[in-house]
Amino acid sequence: MRGAVIYAPGDVRLEQRPNPTIVHPTDAVIRTVATCVCGSDLWDYRGINPVTEPTPIGHEYVGVVEEVGDQVETIQPGQFVIGSFFASDNTCPNCRNGYPSSCVHREFVGGCQAEYVRVPLADGTLVATPDQPAPELVPSLLALSDVMGTGWYAAAAAEVKPGSTVAVVGDGAVGLCAVIAARELGAQRIIAMSRHEPRQKLALEFGATDIVTERGDDGVARIKDMTDGIGADAVLECVGTGESMLQALRSTRPGGNVGFVGVPHGADIPAEELFYSHVGLRGGPAPVRANLPDLIERTFDGRIQPGKVFDLTLPLDQVGDAYRAMDERRAVKVLLRP
Ligand SMILES: [Zn+2]
Repeated sequence: MRGAVIYAPGDVRLEQRPNPTIVHPTDAVIRTVATCVCGSDLWDYRGINPVTEPTPIGHEYVGVVEEVGDQVETIQPGQFVIGSFFASDNTCPNCRNGYPSSCVHREFVGGCQAEYVRVPLADGTLVATPDQPAPELVPSLLALSDVMGTGWYAAAAAEVKPGSTVAVVGDGAVGLCAVIAARELGAQRIIAMSRHEPRQKLALEFGATDIVTERGDDGVARIKDMTDGIGADAVLECVGTGESMLQALRSTRPGGNVGFVGVPHGADIPAEELFYSHVGLRGGPAPVRANLPDLIERTFDGRIQPGKVFDLTLPLDQVGDAYRAMDERRAVKVLLRP
């Protein structure tokens, strides 16, 4: 099969790789219908995470089940399925508590920018759609595999409620999906922080009520101005840098919460400032699996259309161009068709 492999910063190649097979009796192998490039893949592509050896890359996928292991009971060949970047058993205490991304049996699902993917713990990890989806639903279902689930978790972790004032730091695909989540959870005011016009437009379409273009201390000052000097009830941090974390912390009102889902890179929180802020922090790799049934239903109902974050679609053969387009910020997010 064909699959993407990262060799070094700036060097992603499509290669012939062995087809995945059932390794454990709880595995499934799926034929990828769509996959995509994640903002977190760019950490490798830009050399911020070291690449020590050629590594299959990609962790977002939707597809059709080809084959299942002997112990797989509910997932069946032919089903259209979505899964998270962490395989999970959906039965351990952490899964039952709503944190499958901390499953005691979790395994990273990598190498998904490929024609086929092996998914461990198939019964726990994969969720089948009610019917074979219409082609126009596929981008939105793919978004549930990571960015929409992550945006949802940002909003849930920050305890967005009906009537909340929410600020979203970051206008990448996750930040834009966080706007959708805040709207679905009933936020009254959603302030999207973005200085890129196409992303501002999409944020407004997704339910943002205000756009703030300032960043850092100036961004904090604008949020304070807009909230009678108090700060937002909930701030959704979708970047992961030191500047964005501090901006989120300082934009939140005392008693409010930050949901942080950008993978931290050089982001240190000063403990004393956190102490005196009265702000609650919760983040981490999103428990995407926990929200898949709900988000699939919202997608099939047409309530949410997170697939609009894909502003470029390329054949998998052009995976190198997909990385370049995202690295150069010419695209918000690139969908790849095997
Ligand atoms: Zn588990």
